[in-house]
Amino acid sequence: MKKVAIIAQTKEGQLSDASKSLISFVSSFSPESILLLAIGDVNFSTVSASKSIDVIQLSEGLWIDSASIQPLTQAVDGYSVFGIKSIQVDNLLSLLAASSSQEMISGIQQMSYSGGKFLITKSIFSGKASLSLTSETAAYFSLNRNFDFSANSVYGEQSINSVSTLTSAAGSKASILALKPITGSIPLPDAALVVGAGRGLKDPGNWTIVEDLAKALGAATACSKPVSDLNWRPHHEHVGQTGVKISPNLYIACGISGAIQHLAGVNGSRIVVVINNDPEAPFFKHADYGIVGDVNDILPRLTKKLQTH
Ligand SMILES: Cc1cc2nc3c(=O)[nH]c(=O)nc-3n(C[C@H](O)[C@H](O)[C@H](O)COP(=O)(O)OP(=O)(O)OC[C@H]3O[C@@H](n4cnc5c(N)ncnc54)[C@H](O)[C@@H]3O)c2cc1C
Repeated sequence: MKKVAIIAQTKEGQLSDASKSLISFVSSFSPESILLLAIGDVNFSTVSASKSIDVIQLSEGLWIDSASIQPLTQAVDGYSVFGIKSIQVDNLLSLLAASSSQEMISGIQQMSYSGGKFLITKSIFSGKASLSLTSETAAYFSLNRNFDFSANSVYGEQSINSVSTLTSAAGSKASILALKPITGSIPLPDAALVVGAGRGLKDPGNWTIVEDLAKALGAATACSKPVSDLNWRPHHEHVGQTGVKISPNLYIACGISGAIQHLAGVNGSRIVVVINNDPEAPFFKHADYGIVGDVNDILPRLTKKLQTH
């Protein structure tokens, strides 16, 4: 197949695990060449891939507006560009797609490449349904965070050919004054594990049992809309139709009834576990696993079990 580019995210100077999986995945398409667009400083000399790789280090602010996206649009002209869903990656992909007038497909759950065509399954209607499609023309692809990479081969270590830094000739109109990394919590839209809680917790003071479970799992915390409306939890934790859409590998919903507006934001989760003391709670119909019980009893027991393993 033709050339592929990957928007790779980095953490503490290393490629994220998801980015490594994505490189391995696109290698399975046997591309002519692989280009890595690295967001953030990256310090590595080899990558597991089918081919050696060129890297473009993206300078901060480059993708912020349509004027400053031009050098990057030219750099990826003729490439199929892949990224794993995050606010930053989707923003970059959609700007690239718009500035090159090419099609972008997002919400991708499964994907393969055969006979010059991409075969894609993507989520639609806020994750309530899936759509299968083929595309020969799309150039930009955003894969869901719970995309299953497991079926793909692992490739040998390859060296990095060249590293260049891309800056806008015109200069970006926007500049970053300060970077304030979020510490102590995991950004909800990007989280692989999420513990959500609803009005069944009864009082904001009871959230320690939710936070303890999230901490034991390394998960982000989320809540239903009424909980944030009551100011029990911050608004950025509210998931659903009117809140954040999440697609973690695991969503544990505690004391949440499962109203359709809540489900609209969590339908993209790979595995859903519901804990509710009402066996008739609608959420159980949408759960992979259900526990009928009191959150005050179940959550501390789950946390203790996780801490002793
Ligand atoms: C236009 C519109 C947009 C909306 N957008 C959203 C949205 O984006 N996100 C969202 O979440 N909601 C949204 N809603 C609100 C939604 O309809 C529901 O009202 C809301 O999701 C219910 O929140 P809840 O499940 O926390 O509370 P409840 O419906 O009160 O449910 C609490 C649950 O906790 C269980 N419970 C109680 N005690 C315990 C216990 N001790 N142990 C275990 N379980 C217990 C109960 O059985 C119950 O199922 C929207 C509504 C409208 C009209």
